[in-house]
Amino acid sequence: MCFADTSVSVDIDPDEITAIQYRCMDCKTNFKGLGKKISCPSCQSKNVKKM
Ligand SMILES: [Zn+2]
Repeated sequence: MCFADTSVSVDIDPDEITAIQYRCMDCKTNFKGLGKKISCPSCQSKNVKKM
């Protein structure tokens, strides 16, 4: 019997977790953000939407 080695890799590459694109609803600026507390880099507004 030939048994194929199908070891599953569950390594999570930190680079896989890319920054999420956000859009500021106040000044319409598109920016990338990481984390939970996202605020617009342009106007500091927290009225942002995930793209
Ligand atoms: Zn803004």
